[in-house]
Amino acid sequence: MMLKAPLPPGSTIGVLGGGQLGRMLAVAASRLGLKTHVYSEEANPPASDVAATTTVGAYDDDTALAGFADAVDVVTCEFENIPAKTLEIAGRSAPVFPPPKSFAVAQNRLVEKDFLSALGISVAPYAAVVDLNGLRQALSDLGAPAILKTRRFGYDGKGQVLIHTESEAESAWETIGGVPSVLEGVVRFEREVSVIAVRGQDGEAQFYDVIENVHRSGILATSRAPARISDTTVFEARRIAGAIADALQYVGVLCVEMFEREGEEPSLIVNEIAPRIHNSGHWTIDACPVSQFENHVRTICGWPLGTTDRHSDAVMTNLIGDDVNQWPVLAAEPGATIHLYGKAEARPGRKMGHVTRLFPKT
Ligand code: AMP
Repeated sequence: MMLKAPLPPGSTIGVLGGGQLGRMLAVAASRLGLKTHVYSEEANPPASDVAATTTVGAYDDDTALAGFADAVDVVTCEFENIPAKTLEIAGRSAPVFPPPKSFAVAQNRLVEKDFLSALGISVAPYAAVVDLNGLRQALSDLGAPAILKTRRFGYDGKGQVLIHTESEAESAWETIGGVPSVLEGVVRFEREVSVIAVRGQDGEAQFYDVIENVHRSGILATSRAPARISDTTVFEARRIAGAIADALQYVGVLCVEMFEREGEEPSLIVNEIAPRIHNSGHWTIDACPVSQFENHVRTICGWPLGTTDRHSDAVMTNLIGDDVNQWPVLAAEPGATIHLYGKAEARPGRKMGHVTRLFPKT
């Protein structure tokens, strides 16, 4: 279902998921006079502090979902592991953006790698694994070291294990719980980058500056914009993101995470795609006239694309677990903007907030 006309101010955006991404989306929507209705499995999620309405319900509660979809003008998602059935039910009464196919692709690492390969986009060498014998075979084909990743429900480094030698196959298979997986060759990369693309209902796409990311223990630690890469690599990174967005007939904000391989440029390998607003784009709130969140709202509501220009350079640092206790110091730091997600408990590895430091544009 596409939009016949732009949704006017006063319309309501339904957001599946209630985390910090939904929270920042709701703030951006409210600035444009739009309302947000959050659907969340947990009570009092971060987004409900700033949304007009919250429905608490399971993703397989057909009645609650149908009621939610009836009450909104458009549906979007703030996390990618939304079951296909949930999107289908929501889609009966409201248009859903991004298109559900994007979730089907991003939710399964094997489908994702096959999809990218079919587009001629480079991915790490990979092999499908369904049992221990298959894992042993894949290890001997790809060689160690390699990374075994579950096909589904992996995020922030969860659901994956590094295998140093072939003798570790059995313990690795146990560690990931013996579920259908993908074995990936380890990419020797110079740096990790991501591209945040935004594509409108008419197919026009724009890109924010390429972002340079550092992960610790599989979790994003810092993002720097612009990435310190050549113009050729910037061009190639955007070309890849644009090809993916076009192939999915995407509407909304899409993030593509890539490795810049050691050696000759441009040499980009796509690690994964996220069909949503993304942590590596949080700096756009402070360094751009129109943030990734506003551009997502604009496109899913059929508004014109906003600029993806940047007025400042930026470094975003995630506040993970106890890092959030530094808030009084960060709040006092000139040139730093602090964002806190309103989460009560600072568990290890939990994203509690972020801080963005701005610098003159280079
Ligand atoms: P992922 O869950 O796939 O996003 O992986 C989390 C992080 O692990 C990535 O951002 C990389 O830092 C690292 N990683 C994942 N896959 C590979 C790979 N094939 N080669 C090297 N590093 C990887």
